[in-house]
Amino acid sequence: MSDSKNKTESASREQDGLSDSINPRGLERLKNRRKKLTVDDYVEGIREGNRTILSRAITLIESSRSKHREQAEEIIEECLPHTGNSIRVGITGVPGVGKSTFIEMLGNHIIDKKQRKLAVLAIDPSSTKTKGSILGDKTRMETLANNEHAYIRPSPTAGSLGGVARKTRETIYLCEAAGYDTIFIETVGVGQSETAVHSMVDFFLLLMLAGAGDELQGIKRGIMEMADAIAINKIDSSDPIQVKQAVREYKNALHLYPEPESGWGPQVTTCSATTGKGIEEIWEMIEEYISQTKENGFFRDKRNRQSRNWMYETIQNRLSDEFYSDSRVKQMLERVEQNVLNGEISPFKAANILLDQFRQV
Ligand code: GDP
Repeated sequence: MSDSKNKTESASREQDGLSDSINPRGLERLKNRRKKLTVDDYVEGIREGNRTILSRAITLIESSRSKHREQAEEIIEECLPHTGNSIRVGITGVPGVGKSTFIEMLGNHIIDKKQRKLAVLAIDPSSTKTKGSILGDKTRMETLANNEHAYIRPSPTAGSLGGVARKTRETIYLCEAAGYDTIFIETVGVGQSETAVHSMVDFFLLLMLAGAGDELQGIKRGIMEMADAIAINKIDSSDPIQVKQAVREYKNALHLYPEPESGWGPQVTTCSATTGKGIEEIWEMIEEYISQTKENGFFRDKRNRQSRNWMYETIQNRLSDEFYSDSRVKQMLERVEQNVLNGEISPFKAANILLDQFRQV
């Protein structure tokens, strides 16, 4: 397409947008879009696979306003009977390893060849920092973003990892209720976010590169231990000898871990997210894992355990939220903290003083 045609088309699209916003019908549509929805409206819209409504419901989940939270909780409860029927896959690896390219390639494969519906969520607790959301970049996963069978939601931008994890879990439920039967959760390979992702997925995939030491790749041993598979990416542009060596090394490293409860021995495989080599095989491996663990009961057990942990985590988070938002606690916190710093009272006594304040009705 010529440049000038491109320009004319985009100009006319802009024109459309402009006329839309000033003609009365456009305004009416705009108003409808922002119409206040009831819980039933939300649930119905989600169940029909209406993405605008799904996105708005997720925004409620992400909101810090208690009214929104209450409504979000009701929506989640209503959606609950329609959840759980999906494959949840966690994908991690250091920035630059090729996660988004991989997700795009694998995502398009399973949509086109396996008729799956895919939701891609992200956990990136760093995204509040101005220095940049590693995962929030809009140009990523462009073809998936334009695919009607895919839904991409960037990481919630609010605060602590615990908060981000809760929102992501709730978002999984809504996406499942909206008919997405495959959920990818992407995370950056630094810090604690992998543990959070591991606690909400069925299969955990670690992307690595050949020829870069573990230290260089910033992958902690504990993360390797959580992996159900390691895929060495970018084999199209890597030295084949280094690829072979990396496969051998990772296989050896994984063998050192105790036999996993799942009965599944973690795999080491290779792929190229740009050429697509090895991608199909990775999906087959995931399917095999799912059928094997469904057969031996591990799949259900793990999901049950995850649900139980979420309950305890929710209790902990709620208690802590209530504690820190209590006005008496707020008033005293700084002073008591200072007393601890000055060595005037012990940390335990300080905690007791604050907890006593909180418990006073
Ligand atoms: P992320 O930060 O882990 O999400 O990594 P990206 O998907 O953004 O990829 C980082 C860079 O590596 C981009 O320039 C990609 O085009 C490139 N890349 C990703 N996968 C491959 C691959 O399999 N082969 C080659 N040669 N380049 C790749």
